[in-house]
Formats: sequence, structure tokens, C-alpha cells
Amino acid sequence: MTQQADLAIPAVTTLADDERMFRDSVRQFADDSVRPLAREMDEHAKFPRSLIDQLFELGVMGIEIPESFGGSGGRFFHSVLAVEALSRVDPSVGVLVDVQNTLVVNALMRWGNDDIKRRYLPLLSARWVGAYALSEAGSGSDAFALSARAAERGDEFVITGRKLWITNGNEADLFIVFANANPEAGYRGITAFLVERDFPGFAVGKKEDKLGIRASSTCELLLDECRVPRANVLGEVGKGYKVAIETLNEGRIGIGAQMIGLAQGALDHAVSYTKERKQFGRAIADFQGVQFQLARAATELEAARLLVYNAARLRDGGRPFLTEAAMCKVFSSEAAEHVTSLAVNLFGGYGFTKDYPVEKLYRDAKIGQIYEGTSNMQLQTIAKQLLG
Ligand SMILES: Cc1cc2nc3c(=O)[nH]c(=O)nc-3n(C[C@H](O)[C@H](O)[C@H](O)COP(=O)(O)OP(=O)(O)OC[C@H]3O[C@@H](n4cnc5c(N)ncnc54)[C@H](O)[C@@H]3O)c2cc1C
Repeated sequence: MTQQADLAIPAVTTLADDERMFRDSVRQFADDSVRPLAREMDEHAKFPRSLIDQLFELGVMGIEIPESFGGSGGRFFHSVLAVEALSRVDPSVGVLVDVQNTLVVNALMRWGNDDIKRRYLPLLSARWVGAYALSEAGSGSDAFALSARAAERGDEFVITGRKLWITNGNEADLFIVFANANPEAGYRGITAFLVERDFPGFAVGKKEDKLGIRASSTCELLLDECRVPRANVLGEVGKGYKVAIETLNEGRIGIGAQMIGLAQGALDHAVSYTKERKQFGRAIADFQGVQFQLARAATELEAARLLVYNAARLRDGGRPFLTEAAMCKVFSSEAAEHVTSLAVNLFGGYGFTKDYPVEKLYRDAKIGQIYEGTSNMQLQTIAKQLLG
């Protein structure tokens, strides 16, 4: 019996017209403008400014910023679609856009007062890249043990400390820096500050040489008596831990999007290659052994996408999503590792060379289990909810 589709009952992956058009435009851009650069960007660990300018023109650097501030006036789900579509071609581009939207813009939209929004949202929509600086050499998973200190001096705060692993550090104009303004109060002293690149006492240090997402810069930040006006406190003094928790809870859905995007890219490559590559007189995709591996990969990827989209939709709907966000990150990063590894296998010896794109996606996948909370930290969140 054939049944008429009831479009009033959407699937989790059903896209509204505006979502589909937006996704398609970003996908087209990724294919036309990112794909030709991806290999060189990876090899030289460089992100060309001209590509950043194009991302601003495309409207993916201020997705949730209201149009009145020059942004695209979209929802969190649009950010997920953009990160996924870009990561399918280059996860380094995906994460630059991800940090800009799901961490930096997100934090400013939620915690910024009118003055902060008026000063920074138009810049972030038009040309400023943002970065989010929580981690330090000694505090990663235990993020609130951070040792950067902020001392109040008149109508300024003076910050001293070092941040490590800061994505977009090389390109960013604005940094959300977390420092403790009242160490006796423990984590309740942590405060979020908006630091401009040219504030006195601020410098970007060493850039890491990495396994994957090599074009995405990961830098140390040095704050030596860095003077920040009181007006640049994001949220309230002592509420930085809330700023951090709330943005990272949402941000990790963006990492899920990066992971499903890159897994889709690898699967697409594997499908076309196995249909073309001949062994034993037939396309290797004709062998049931290969077909089943591809089918399993596609199933795992679909499950990951459902988790990511559902978490994003819960967030946009104002419903609780903490556990679902943690689940989507754990699962999608593992799926990405499995799918990219299979893609390398199915390319055979060629998969192991830099002449084909799958080895890069395999390297890029690894970061999903580490940043914005390692897989163990996500499992801890899920277990806490499970066990009460
Ligand atoms: C490429 C890259 C980009 C990054 N970008 C940013 C950024 O933009 N901003 C930012 O602030 N940070 C960023 N980070 C930092 C990242 O979030 C941290 O690396 C991550 O949180 C892990 O911290 P760590 O490296 O100190 O590892 P650790 O916390 O030392 O963890 C080491 C291992 O121990 C495990 N572990 C630790 N504690 C527990 C526990 N209680 N139970 C079980 N297992 C545990 C972890 O799961 C992990 O496997 C980035 C990191 C990388 C590599």
C-alpha cells in the first residue's frame, strides 16, 4: 500500500525550506571555494584571510546575530547545518565557524549587556573572528582549576596568566578570556572578559603543530598585566563558570556537527571510489563484504546525525538538552573515527597517501574525542544523569 507523505509530521532530519536553502548554499560554497584549498591549507597549516572574508560574505560568521546588528538572524540549528556542510569538505573551516557561532557569538548573545552587544556584534558579523579561551596547561578537563588571575584596579581589571590550545588564536580579533577575580571563592571567582587583540599586555604565543585540523590555528595566549575595562566583563564578576558551562554545553553540539560532516565527506569518497576501483575483474563495491562495511558506516552516521540534530532542535526549542548534547558528541566522534578509518581501508594503499582526501579526514576526526570536553567527560555527564 502506498501512503501519501504527511509533511506536517517532520522527521528529525526534515529540513524546513529556509534550512535547506541555507544548507545547500553553504555546501555549494564548500565544494567550490574550500575544496580546492583544503590540501594546501592542511599541508602548510595556514588559513587564508581571503577565505575568512568569504565566510563573512556568505553570512556564516554571525548566524544567530540579529539582522539589526548585521547578522543572519538564524537559529542554533542553522549553525549546526553550516558546520556540518563545511566540515564535509574541510573540518578546519568547520571549526573556525563553529567557535565563532556556537561559543563566541552564543556567549555574547546570552550574557552580553546592550553596550557589549552594540559594540561587538556588528564587528563579529562583518569582519572580526572570535576565540574562546578557557583551557590552560594545568587545567583542561578540570577547567575551573584555572590559574589566570584578574585583579580589580579602578574601572579596569588586570589579567595575568596563560591560556593554551586556543582555537582561532592566530586569526581572532576578540577573545573571551576566563580568569579568576576572587580565588578565595574558588570557581565562584571565575569571570569572563572580552579581550581585544591589541589590548595592552595581551599577546598570542606559540601555535601548535597538530595531527589533524591543521589549518585551524591552536595557540597559546599570554596575558601579562593585560588591562581590560570593567565594561568588558561578560556577564557578572564571579559568574564566568556559568558562562563557560552554558556555552560549552551548547558548543559540543557544534562539534557533533563537525564530526557528522567529516564522516559524510569520507563516506561519499568511499562510495565513489569503491564503485570505480576494479579488482578481480569487478568494482570492489560489487563485493558483499565491501557493501556491508559501507552499509554499517552509513547506519552509524545516520544514528550520529539523529543525535546531533535532535540535540540542536531541543536547544532551539528551549527544552533540556544537556544529556543529549553529551551523547551526540561521544557518539558522533566515535562514528567519525570508524567511518574515516573504513574510508582509508577501502582506498587501499592510495588511502594511506596524501593524494586522496581520506587520510586527512581520518586525522581530522581524532580531535572530536578531545576538545570541548573529552569523551570521558561526556560519559561522566551522561552517567550523572543516569545514576541521579
Ligand atoms: C586542537 C585543539 C583545540 C582546542 N581549542 C580550545 C579552545 O578554543 N578553547 C579552550 O579553552 N580549549 C581548547 N582546547 C582544549 C581542550 O578543550 C582540552 O585539551 C580538553 O578539555 C582536555 O584537557 P587536557 O588536554 O588538559 O587533558 P586532561 O584533562 O589532562 O585529560 C587527559 C585524559 O585524562 C582523562 N581524564 C581527565 N580527568 C578525568 C576524570 N575525572 N575521569 C576520567 N577521565 C579523566 C581525559 O578524558 C583524557 O583522556 C583545544 C584542544 C585542542 C587539542
